[in-house]
Amino acid sequence: MTLVETHICQLKRRFRTCGAGAAGLCQYCNRLFCDDHGVVQDDRQEICTRRFCQDKRRDLIRHLEYKEAVESRNERRLCGIESCSRILGGRCARCDGYFCGRHVEPREEMYLQNRVRMRRMASLCHHCWARRPIWVRT
Ligand SMILES: [Zn+2]
Ligand SMILES: [Zn+2]
Ligand SMILES: [Zn+2]
Ligand SMILES: [Zn+2]
Repeated sequence: MTLVETHICQLKRRFRTCGAGAAGLCQYCNRLFCDDHGVVQDDRQEICTRRFCQDKRRDLIRHLEYKEAVESRNERRLCGIESCSRILGGRCARCDGYFCGRHVEPREEMYLQNRVRMRRMASLCHHCWARRPIWVRT
């Protein structure tokens, strides 16, 4: 019995577990999902329809665009923030971009380790600091 149960959708349909045959395993919350409750994309990303996981998917797209913009500004030795002309002062631990002393700051951030929230100090740019709440939700 247990073997069968590990291959069924774990998402909620109204008040009970969906239980349909699983089509994928969400890369963000590790829940199995059926065709109705998630998508397996062409690039092999597997994401369920839970709001938190969809937020993460959207945020990641935004983040990659941001990283690209920062990188191209850094190549010209400019702070990663558009229209900032101060000299470079530090590096963000999350996006690896370089920023001026105003746009990257030491912060106490929370992160997930085995689904447990932990704290640490890290230098973060404003963008990475702002997106952090999305990634500590489970
Ligand atoms: Zn999920
Ligand atoms: Zn389902
Ligand atoms: Zn950053
Ligand atoms: Zn700056």
